[in-house]
Amino acid sequence: MSKTLIRGAKVLGGEVQDVLIDGETIVQVGSGLSDEGAEVVEADGKVLLPGLVDLHTHLREPGREDSETVLTGTRAAASGGYTAVFAMANTFPVADTAGVVEQVYRLGKESGYCDVQPIGAVTVGLEGKKLAELGAMHDSAAGVKVFSDDGKCVDDAVIMRRALEYVKAFGGVVAQHAQEPRLTEGAQMNEGVVSAELGLGGWPAVAEESIIARDVLLAEHVGSRVHICHLSTAGSVEIVRWAKSRGIDVTAEVTPHHLLLTDELVRSYNPVYKVNPPLRTEKDVLALREALADGTIDIVATDHAPHPHEDKDCEWAAAAMGMVGLETALSVVQQTMVETGLLDWAGVAERMSAKPAAIGRLEGHGRPIAVGEPANLTLLDAAYRGQVDPAGFASRSRNTPYEGRELPGRVTHTFLRGRATVVDGKLA
Ligand SMILES: [Zn+2]
Repeated sequence: MSKTLIRGAKVLGGEVQDVLIDGETIVQVGSGLSDEGAEVVEADGKVLLPGLVDLHTHLREPGREDSETVLTGTRAAASGGYTAVFAMANTFPVADTAGVVEQVYRLGKESGYCDVQPIGAVTVGLEGKKLAELGAMHDSAAGVKVFSDDGKCVDDAVIMRRALEYVKAFGGVVAQHAQEPRLTEGAQMNEGVVSAELGLGGWPAVAEESIIARDVLLAEHVGSRVHICHLSTAGSVEIVRWAKSRGIDVTAEVTPHHLLLTDELVRSYNPVYKVNPPLRTEKDVLALREALADGTIDIVATDHAPHPHEDKDCEWAAAAMGMVGLETALSVVQQTMVETGLLDWAGVAERMSAKPAAIGRLEGHGRPIAVGEPANLTLLDAAYRGQVDPAGFASRSRNTPYEGRELPGRVTHTFLRGRATVVDGKLA
């Protein structure tokens, strides 16, 4: 395999360095490195980050290839600077058996754009009634370590307890979509001033917070590990902060859209803003940013949720919930966390690469930019400013809330084990 020299990059936004890749591995980091026999990428002071890792992606295959496939989703991921994604289990059929997770794993291998680690369902058919074959999925070629019924909440406390007990044996984790179903029946948006004015069914914060409170206590009782998907309220932050201070083994994620957007946008009735959990208030957004900065929230996860045009281009009440996010995540984090002074680039690398890989026990990703490490890298032009144009997305879907919005930063290169998957902002 060939050599690549990345010349003059700000490693983690700090010192300007050259990075030499030979084959799949970083072999030298320093200044004034020789470019002999190497293809040169002139970084010109761009920010070099470890390849991003997304713990929460919906790739939709098998079953909803009209919205995304493993191939198009991994192309979107590479475009956004990702070198690994965890694929959620709410496909058709549901990824609740060794057969389905192995299929997704194999499709990921074939795509070549980023590594795909399947997530297994907690319950059969995501129905919340009976535990899926967690052990068989773990023992399969896919080596599943993260289990989630995401899209639905594991609302039965006994089932949740059993799942936590089961995954403990092999160091797995249950990722909970915290949504008390009865409290959110008919819910269309955040419950608050705006929902009252618009007359739309409200989604109270307590529907999320009550499940998180229950699950951190269950994790403590069982001595197991729990991960909370897409925190969206200030109260959820308080509960996770309390749980961590008590020594409970809990981790949490926040999506880019919950760091930037509020329920005021729902006044437009544009279904592109319809998402689960819903956009909340300014107070929640600020609490989530602060929690991501201080480590209460461990990671950023996209909850990339592609939907075909017809499922979003309809009236608010009928529209599907979810937004695409892989291709804009780093830009939103730059705007909300870096340009506000809440995080530096090393902090971003921790929360978008190292920690998601650690939570999912994914080897070979989230590693430091250092000699001997796999060359999974992302080069970001942080000075770039431009409007989001969904026509240029690699994803099969276009349901972005950022169309026409100016966001900073642009991924110019992504390397997966030394091979460029994105060159000069275009898929290789
Ligand atoms: Zn979810």
